[in-house]
Amino acid sequence: MTDRRTELAANLAAVHDRVAIACADVGRDRGEVEVIVVTKTYPRADAETLVGLGVTDLGENRHPEAADKAVEGARLHFVGGLQTNKAGAVARYADVVHSVDRLKLARSLARGAQAAERTLGALVQVDFQEGADAGRAGIAPGDALTLADEIAALPGLRLDGLMTVAPLGVDPRPVFDTLADLGERLRRDHPEATMVSAGMSGDLEAAVAAGATHLRIGRAVLGERPNVV
Ligand SMILES: *Cc1c(COP(=O)(O)O)cnc(C)c1O
Repeated sequence: MTDRRTELAANLAAVHDRVAIACADVGRDRGEVEVIVVTKTYPRADAETLVGLGVTDLGENRHPEAADKAVEGARLHFVGGLQTNKAGAVARYADVVHSVDRLKLARSLARGAQAAERTLGALVQVDFQEGADAGRAGIAPGDALTLADEIAALPGLRLDGLMTVAPLGVDPRPVFDTLADLGERLRRDHPEATMVSAGMSGDLEAAVAAGATHLRIGRAVLGERPNVV
């Protein structure tokens, strides 16, 4: 084993331990929570190594970097902000887009998926920021379910659920709880939209406690990123 492989294996094991403990703490079944490893800024070789170590879900946040790091044997989750003019390209290789926050983007993704004759999973990204940063990425909670209905009606897209990034510097728990409540309301009309994508390296325990089904973990597996992304 190379040093990097050993390091990634150890980090991955530590993350899985954290998830198992977080589940046990709140009486959740470990099988309810998936870990998506976010490989952004790290080389494709790391993504390949991770898949070799059993990772089934990789996350990326930029096009075209994401396309270069699609590894056979793993699902690719696109988790970053997405410009409408890149949506068609992303729809060709991503399996699930977590960052759908406006109808125009949803329509472009749907067109791209249809052109590629595939079905793309879509999550509504909900924004809980307040003040100057509000609306930078994500739709307001009060508008999320309407967008979800619109996504569900688009051919080429499959409505999978909801996603959020907790605002920096605040207790993430109420945010994750509110997202989980919104998810429950969503499933009244869309029972198959079961994904709740919340929780990153710093706050995965809070997300598990709130009921997240998908954690997006970067630094805790790959190491600190040299540049702010
Ligand atoms: C980078 C990123 C993550 C992973 O964050 P870490 O703090 O490295 O675990 C999760 N979600 C999104 C949207 C990201 O861009």
